[in-house]
Amino acid sequence: MIVVAAILVLANIFWYVRHRRQQKKLAETVLPSNATQLLTENVPFYNKLSDKDKALFEARIKDFLAHTTVRGVEVEVDDLDRILIASGAIMLIFSFPDWKYNNISEILLYPSSFDRQFSQDAPERNVLGMVGDGAMHREMILSKRSLRASFSNPADGENTVLHEFAHLIDKADGATDGIPEYLLSKPQVLPWISLVRETINQMRASGHSDIDLYGATNETEFFAVITEYFFEQPGKLKEHHPELFSMLEQMFHPQAAPKN
Ligand SMILES: [Zn+2]
Repeated sequence: MIVVAAILVLANIFWYVRHRRQQKKLAETVLPSNATQLLTENVPFYNKLSDKDKALFEARIKDFLAHTTVRGVEVEVDDLDRILIASGAIMLIFSFPDWKYNNISEILLYPSSFDRQFSQDAPERNVLGMVGDGAMHREMILSKRSLRASFSNPADGENTVLHEFAHLIDKADGATDGIPEYLLSKPQVLPWISLVRETINQMRASGHSDIDLYGATNETEFFAVITEYFFEQPGKLKEHHPELFSMLEQMFHPQAAPKN
């Protein structure tokens, strides 16, 4: 009994100290004075928000940056890099006010595509980003060139930041398998799996698709690729794949999405 009480007291102290440390870090984190300008000039998603939501978006990127370090490897990290990474991260979860990425502490920024030795899953792809595994399980690697290109072409269907954070959302339920269980209600899981498999099979059989063929690698990559498409070219996705669009709408914007 005494041992249990002692463990509970220690656990409470540990939680309290950690909570205080996080609060202090958040209080110490300041967005650059021109953050609003950087967002306005570089993040179309932000520009479409109401004034109230813009303030909320800024608070959430600040919170993200208080918990996530961005470190340059042979490249300088500037304010715009931090703002763009945080924006991509928050865009995906903006409909979930309480969602925080608990599975990332550090992002390594490389100048351009990095050595393939880092990548386990994409040997044929020029590696522009990846989510770490094993000893690097709380790390993400991004290429600065690709980061900048992702936001300077915000409607070409490709965004490395959205791609990698989609993997983190997928990973949050314990399995990086293309089934983001936190975004899906139980009855949606099987329809999602069968829709994904059907689409991948079509892509493989025809050898071409409006969806990036890299998405046909497996279910995991499909989810990351289709997330890029959904956020960057929603109109086109809706036209070509209404069912996929509708499911993604329910996953990412559950309050706004029409229920089937
Ligand atoms: Zn990927």
